[in-house]
Amino acid sequence: MRYRGRIAPTPTGYLHLGHAATFWRAFLRARNAGGSLVFRIEDLDPQRCRPEFSSAAIGDLRWLGIDWEEGPDQGGPFAPYVQSQRHDWFLLVWEKLHQGGFIYPCTRSRRDVATAAGAPHDEDAEENEPVFPAEWRPAPAAARAFSSPGAVNWRFRVPDGESISFADQIQGTRQWTAGQDFGDFLVWRKDGVPAYELAVVADDHAMQITEVVRGADLLKSTARQLLLYRALGWEPPQWAHTDLLCDAQGRRLAKRHDALSLRTLREQGFSPREVLARAGISSA
Ligand code: GLU
Repeated sequence: MRYRGRIAPTPTGYLHLGHAATFWRAFLRARNAGGSLVFRIEDLDPQRCRPEFSSAAIGDLRWLGIDWEEGPDQGGPFAPYVQSQRHDWFLLVWEKLHQGGFIYPCTRSRRDVATAAGAPHDEDAEENEPVFPAEWRPAPAAARAFSSPGAVNWRFRVPDGESISFADQIQGTRQWTAGQDFGDFLVWRKDGVPAYELAVVADDHAMQITEVVRGADLLKSTARQLLLYRALGWEPPQWAHTDLLCDAQGRRLAKRHDALSLRTLREQGFSPREVLARAGISSA
């Protein structure tokens, strides 16, 4: 099968050097494989995403020298490439999971789960999300009463104790145990927005992505996503998780690091080559 990669920023802020490093790698892997690259905007969270950050991401990555064959700025056979315009597709995927009996409605909040685990509540720490207590799962009949998601959260029931492993193209073989390293995870939010895990699997499948290149902060999410691929009867892509860049204090780069945003560096007069060098990439 011909290589199809993708880059999929969430427009909640300006992209930083860490994104440059990961997206450059995704770009090169697609080029070296003679394949194509898809650009997809993951703007599902209406509270946190802003259109100006989508335009900035497109502009800054183009400036850096990254090209893609399909995306919101030029269209393509799998348009739209903007997740907020793909709601009907996500709903179909929700229905498929619902019909298969893989998901259930859940009235517990993330805060409830964090409190039960005695963990501090941290919305951003997706990979450190505490395990949802199995005793909170409702009886199977609770799901059957629904024919649409409604105003309730939905979770995927993980197979407790099952070992989930995959061979990552960069990190080697990684393994997690469902129900221990991660628990039942959100697939749909009560505000009507599909959760990241559902949307990303739905779109990587729909857009026929053959390899996912992204940051190593999403390694554990890959284990969750493999369960979704299996439940949906879909072939998963290959995975390549890139090492994360840290700041001088050893903290992982995040959108709060304005000084290291591509926009700021660009405005300060750095060239694309200099920015790539700061991201640890030699573009020569
Ligand atoms: N949209 C996600 C982010 O910006 C990345 C999702 C992915 O690559 O799977 O963190």
